[in-house]
Amino acid sequence: MPPNYEICAIRYGHLERTAGHNFIGGDEHDGPMPLDYYVWTIRGPGVCCVLDTGFDAAMGAARGRELVQTVEAGLESVDIRAEQVGDVIVSHMHYDHAGNHELFPGARYHLQTEEMSFCTGSAMCHAIMRAPYEARDVQAMVGRLFAGRVVYHDGTAELEPGITLHRVGGHTRGLQVVRVHTQRGWVVLASDAAHFYANWQERRPFPIVDNVAAYLDAFTTIEALASSPQHVIPGHDPQVLVRYPAARAGLANAVRVDLDPNTGGS
Ligand SMILES: [Zn+2]
Ligand SMILES: [Zn+2]
Repeated sequence: MPPNYEICAIRYGHLERTAGHNFIGGDEHDGPMPLDYYVWTIRGPGVCCVLDTGFDAAMGAARGRELVQTVEAGLESVDIRAEQVGDVIVSHMHYDHAGNHELFPGARYHLQTEEMSFCTGSAMCHAIMRAPYEARDVQAMVGRLFAGRVVYHDGTAELEPGITLHRVGGHTRGLQVVRVHTQRGWVVLASDAAHFYANWQERRPFPIVDNVAAYLDAFTTIEALASSPQHVIPGHDPQVLVRYPAARAGLANAVRVDLDPNTGGS
């Protein structure tokens, strides 16, 4: 049996918006449906890795997103010093997942070959496709590549026993999700394969998408990887903070998703 890992979901950003922005074709009710922005930490015996690196204050301001706390502060709140992180997994290269370039000076970066092909290839000739990407994030990754700090993966890969990466595509061509063994079974950190529970459970895609059919097919993969639907963690849903217990007593912006969801909550 692989070891059990602790997983924290750390909220660092927020955006007020209505539901019509969160589904292809809009939403007939169009009530409030804000987005939260997260990074995730995965810790076990001799292992401390981070999934996604978020955006910084300047990028949040430039894009009109609220920075609830810096990613660095969010990590410190669960006793992780960024400079000690050895492995960073990048689910995909969108600006809200690939910023804060100087935060992890000692880390190797793990991403799918296909994602770098996508965000440096002909798809970026289209303004709507490159809009969620930042050239400086891509440039920073190329810099790391030439510093020998990037590990490319093609499809499924094992990072550590009980931590595997799985390319699902759909939202972006090289999007990967992470499957982690925990005390409650196999948890899947879906990142932007499912912004919200509703994108996944109602099969209503988020409007930023490379390939709609591949986006929908990703849910079959994710459901097969997770021990149950309760083991799938969406990438931007404020409900994650509501459903899971605080990572530390009194912490409002970090929860443990390797633990069972709260009972009696919403
Ligand atoms: Zn994205
Ligand atoms: Zn995102």
